[in-house]
Amino acid sequence: MQKILNFIGGEFVAPVQGKFLENTDPSCGKTYSLVPDSIAEDVERAVLAAQKAFPSWSQTPVAERSALLIKLADLIRRDLDLLAAAESLDNGKPVHVAKNLDIPRSESNFRFFASAILQFHGETFLSDDEALNYTESSPLGVVACISPWNLPLYLLSWKIAPALAAGNTVVAKPSEVTPMTAYLLCKLAQEAGFPAGVLNMVHGRGPEVGEPLVNHPQIKAISFTGSTMTGRRIAECTSSKFKKLSLEMGGKNANIIFADADFEKALATTVRSSFSNQGQICLCGSRIFVEKSIYEKFSHELIVQTQKLRCGDPKDATTDQGALVSKLHWEKVIASLETAKKEGGRILCGGKPPVLSGDLKNGYFMEPTLIEGISHLGVTNQEEIFGPVATLIPFSNEEEVIEMANSTRYGLSASVWTSDVKRAHRVARKLESGLVWVNTWMFRDLRTPFGGVKESGVGREGGAEALKFFTETKNICIALK
Ligand code: NAD
Repeated sequence: MQKILNFIGGEFVAPVQGKFLENTDPSCGKTYSLVPDSIAEDVERAVLAAQKAFPSWSQTPVAERSALLIKLADLIRRDLDLLAAAESLDNGKPVHVAKNLDIPRSESNFRFFASAILQFHGETFLSDDEALNYTESSPLGVVACISPWNLPLYLLSWKIAPALAAGNTVVAKPSEVTPMTAYLLCKLAQEAGFPAGVLNMVHGRGPEVGEPLVNHPQIKAISFTGSTMTGRRIAECTSSKFKKLSLEMGGKNANIIFADADFEKALATTVRSSFSNQGQICLCGSRIFVEKSIYEKFSHELIVQTQKLRCGDPKDATTDQGALVSKLHWEKVIASLETAKKEGGRILCGGKPPVLSGDLKNGYFMEPTLIEGISHLGVTNQEEIFGPVATLIPFSNEEEVIEMANSTRYGLSASVWTSDVKRAHRVARKLESGLVWVNTWMFRDLRTPFGGVKESGVGREGGAEALKFFTETKNICIALK
């Protein structure tokens, strides 16, 4: 059985205790590889290696760092098929999703920050003829990048790329549920010629690896994506340590459809925004608000389109819905349906695992599910499910839908569908959300700030925001008189 290894100081090494966790193929429930069950001592070794590599990496000319990131992007492109197959096997997502979304975006992340760092510059402030102020940005030192399982390489590279581009050295911890592409990335980093210790990867569980990493005194910044519960724990652990924190956390995103929207476009996009990646994208619109005058027609058409989505083998090019990531998560999603029923929810379609044959019978599949009849304040509409489950909620007017959309503790993203540009602007402005899409969903330009408000996030990723996060700014003031 394949053994994934930690990557520390440029070498692939077993965890110090020699213990491994089982890594499962969620489409059949079988263990197919082993992942290090690392502990604080593994973290210590990785931080030491990163500390040793920092002086030289931070002084490496920016153009050379940029060239290495481009080389890594080229290698990801070369291995597109291999990486997509690995991501699909590890996560359960259809291989075509990994091939068209996850891996190309991982490549773009390195390519984008390789270019962005060349444009990253300071500011000057001429204080009349008294003084000249200018700013200088320096890397922080050793930084931690901690990522979740839903878009494994995509989100890990979204952190590693700006951190390295800015001259930091990295100790990364991918999700223990989906470690494979992080391991393969280290092989590519080695092939690209990154100096030893610049990128280190420690695999294992959150409390055993993530927590010693965030608590380590040499870790200057923590870039985390995952649940609000873990984000809160990290914030608590580090509250008195003055580390820089970027927390991308959970969401319960509103998808708001006014009667004057382009019906067909809103419908087709709602199918995608509710169920892409089995609903396991932090940006998925899990609460669909539909204006009363089109509610019956829209919900009917949405059910028809949703029922066409085909659950099946992630390797099959015709599969729309692969497996959920793990047994634990699958059970949580099933339990959330019981809660929905208790709250008076009517299951309009889905609501159960599909009937599949062969090995897939033991996989963690779930039919895409639509539910109506639950108050916007019900648990189902307040708490993140993070699976192929969306609720439909009718609304009468702008004020009402804004109030309902803003009623959760989350505020990551929202979509607004209308042909009235003034209303689009009014509603977008009032939504308590870090990202608002109008007449689209998940349109991403890597230069734009990305992140949530309320309990969805602290700080912003993307473009210059990420480079600012991974650097410290100094103001230098020179007297001119
Ligand atoms: P999770 O919080 O359980 O784990 C995320 C990462 O944190 C994993 O690598 C995990 O091992 C690690 N971790 C766990 N406990 C830790 C601790 N005490 N200290 C340090 N690290 C620890 O999240 P998940 O289940 O992997 O991912 C799903 C969640 O991620 C959902 O809530 C989803 O909304 C969120 N998410 C958010 C975004 C965003 O951009 N806002 C993007 C993707 C996913």
